Amino acid sequence: MKAAVVRNVNDGYVDLVDDWQPRALSFGDALVDIEYVGLCHTDLHCANGDFGDPNKIGERNGNFRRVIGHEGVGRVAKLGEGADAYLEVGDRVSIAWFYDACGVCDYCVSGNETFCRKVRNSGYTIDGAMSQQAVVNAKYAVKVPEGLDPVEATSITCAGVTMYKALKVGETKPGEWVSVHGAGGLGNLAVQYAHSVFGAHVAVIDGNDDKLAAAKANGAEVLVNRKKEDVVAKVNELTGGVHNAQVTAVNDAAFSQAVNVLRPMGKLVAVALPQGDMALNIAKTVLDGIEVRGSLVGTRADLKEAFQFGAEGKVKPIVETVAFQDMNDIIDEMKAGSITGRKVIDFTTL
Ligand code: NAD
Ligand code: ZN
Ligand code: ZN
Repeated sequence: MKAAVVRNVNDGYVDLVDDWQPRALSFGDALVDIEYVGLCHTDLHCANGDFGDPNKIGERNGNFRRVIGHEGVGRVAKLGEGADAYLEVGDRVSIAWFYDACGVCDYCVSGNETFCRKVRNSGYTIDGAMSQQAVVNAKYAVKVPEGLDPVEATSITCAGVTMYKALKVGETKPGEWVSVHGAGGLGNLAVQYAHSVFGAHVAVIDGNDDKLAAAKANGAEVLVNRKKEDVVAKVNELTGGVHNAQVTAVNDAAFSQAVNVLRPMGKLVAVALPQGDMALNIAKTVLDGIEVRGSLVGTRADLKEAFQFGAEGKVKPIVETVAFQDMNDIIDEMKAGSITGRKVIDFTTL
């Protein structure tokens, strides 16, 4: 069957193969017929070897090249032994970056399962969703609610839940200001969750006017084109300094800008994963009581909540389906920063 696998040269692109086979089902596993998979910028980091070569990390399960993809949605086709306690054939489930974890460590039992030291991540340490069929751990595959469009559900599976969680990590409160640095796949959903779910005011920064226009349509009140305007001056002038800054731009300069738009006691929530270090002014951090927090995707409970807001129509991902064979062109578009919302690979027509 068809699958997108990481190249051994880790050059940032994928090979589209048609002889791939999912691994045999172990106890508690289920086989999923994939319908749609969104392409997240993290897939580009994986294909580029930014976190290490995925073809050399994690379990091989008989396959020697890692299948990418963690914004996956599909229907359960077959249950392995023991999986019927959690899923039924025909259920629509998601395949997220958080694949599964040990279930018993301090992180797992305290609602912080994504930080489990035995965590497995789809498309990185275990094969992901970008194949016609994929294997999930039935306990960990969060169901997609009826009433939520499956193409839109793909974006909530990573981008949506990540920003919903990051806004929680930033302790976002109604009426407060949030800045969203980068209005791409994650950023546009950050705007929607911040405005429509948390009831916050939103300032958004990007270098692309179409993305800024989409953010405005989704409730952002302050729009800054970083290529034409002074980001720090404009955000401070129009918001008085933000309560929390959400950084989704794959660019270390965006992190420094975010520090400088915070009001005293503001929180910088680091979400994007550019290579390198972040410049943090020590005096501002101390004198203004600045906090910096990393935020990593979300737990199964976060994803269930994030889906529910989608099902209720409070957030509506911007999605466009594209053909499997165009994946490397989509990767180029994402690198160029020209995708508004998400491009979603359609497996239903293969
Ligand atoms: P994307 O390419 O869709 O969006 C990135 C956006 O940033 C683009 O719109 C681009 O125009 C904009 N941008 C670039 N430089 C900028 C700057 N200096 N200031 C403002 N905007 C700028 O990518 P995405 O899928 O939204 O992912 C974003 C990042 O988040 C990636 O590094 C990805 O790996 C990471 N990510 C992290 C998590 C997590 O759990 N922490 C989850 C998913 C993705
Ligand atoms: Zn992702
Ligand atoms: Zn654990």
